[in-house]
Amino acid sequence: MTRKTKMPVLFIGHGSPMNAIEDNEFTHGWQELVKTLPKPKAIVCISAHWETDGVFVTASSSPETIHDFYGFPKELFAVRYNTEGDVSLAKEIVRLVKSAEVKLDEERGLDHGVWGVLLPMYPDADIPVVQLSMDRSQPPLFHYEIGGQLASLRDEGILIICSGNIVHNLRMLKFHDPKPYEWAEKFNEEIKRLITTGNHNQIIDYKSLGQIAELSVPTPEHFWPLLYAIGLQEAGERVSFFNDKVISSISMTSVIIGN
Ligand code: ZN
Repeated sequence: MTRKTKMPVLFIGHGSPMNAIEDNEFTHGWQELVKTLPKPKAIVCISAHWETDGVFVTASSSPETIHDFYGFPKELFAVRYNTEGDVSLAKEIVRLVKSAEVKLDEERGLDHGVWGVLLPMYPDADIPVVQLSMDRSQPPLFHYEIGGQLASLRDEGILIICSGNIVHNLRMLKFHDPKPYEWAEKFNEEIKRLITTGNHNQIIDYKSLGQIAELSVPTPEHFWPLLYAIGLQEAGERVSFFNDKVISSISMTSVIIGN
């Protein structure tokens, strides 16, 4: 009898768009991780940078590279991540998600929350990629529940990558002083503890953590991808962390569920 391996689920702290083309401790962390994973049949991404009214999934056979940022060097705008889409996988996601109506988007490409981590991780761009949007009008529980409904994809050799940042406060970011804020480290540690102990309710209700949450998650879009990831965490499933570092007001901490 052959036993299919269940793919892990990743939450990647993506940080600056420059990580797409830089060679640094974080991109090395991503590359080291890839060496430990079976090659995925396809990748499903949920990124902080695609918020919509309603839920959409990319259904283009060759999704374009979206440069959704300003003020970065020309070489970053020149990057193309020429991977294929996977229309049948997009349709499977439409069927799997029961708590919302997911619509196919045949035009939308991949944002930098996706290609910015995939380029260092899978530079050959030879694995089809589908991206699922996050409905900006919905509460945390909605995002958590959609994550859970994607669970069966893990048994099909599909890697689910959720791309955001546990702590993301650009307004307070000190570019030339990487020393972490105390509140940022506290929130990051608390969320890690809650992930490790499987206390998903408290993560969904992160706002009740008070001021450290207000400062770490001033807007929810970088935190929400974590909810999709833990929505896929099965009871007792192993969790580990890497790139576990807070820089000023951004946490690069990344999570591996089930590897
Ligand atoms: Zn971002």
